[in-house]
Order: sequence, then C-alpha cells, then structure tokens
Amino acid sequence: MPEKKRFHKRQTRKKPAWQLEIANERIDILFSQADVEFNNNRPDLSNRYVEIARKIGMKYNTPLTKHKRLFCKKCGHYLKPGANARIRLDSEKKTIRMTCLDCGNLTRFGYSKRNQT
Ligand SMILES: [Zn+2]
Repeated sequence: MPEKKRFHKRQTRKKPAWQLEIANERIDILFSQADVEFNNNRPDLSNRYVEIARKIGMKYNTPLTKHKRLFCKKCGHYLKPGANARIRLDSEKKTIRMTCLDCGNLTRFGYSKRNQT
C-alpha cells in the first residue's frame, strides 16, 4: 500500500472584515470617479482608476463582481456602453456580449436569473 502523502493545509490569511470593507468602498469610489472622468473626456484618468481598483481587488482578494462589466479584462480600460463598448444580447445563449472598442476583446456575461448579481 502506497504511503499517503500528507499535505499541510496552506494557511490563507484572510484579511480582516474591516479592511475588506474599506477596500470595497475604495473600489466603489474609484469606479464612480472613473465614470466622472470618462464623462469629462479624460478616459486616460478613468483607465488609471480602473487599474488602481483592480490592484486593490487583487490585494484584498475581493473579486470585482459588482464592477466586472465596467472594464475590459484585456486592456484594462474603463468601458462605457455606447462610447467605447458595444453591447449585444444573445437571447439564445442568454448572454450579453460586450465588445471593447479599444482592443476588440469580446466578453460574455450570462443574464439568466441564476447568474444575476
Ligand atoms: Zn479592451
């Protein structure tokens, strides 16, 4: 009988709740600022805010689920439907197809009730 390999449980230090709260708040603020700057014709600033928000999300292990439709995963640009993003509905697959007009990346989101956030 082969010896069973023992794995030590890797300790994943979770950040304290209050820190996560602050991180989420900062992400919210950054995305709303990104929108403001985009409307001010400063997309470069919006992109910078998105970059910072993503970094915070990574650092605190908080996925940007709430904001995942607001930026391009490939080039990291802030996306505004009608301005630099094209949105198409695929009723057959029940998905939203969002194309980033800056780099041409296509992202799909499910919109069935189960997937709604
Ligand atoms: Zn893009």
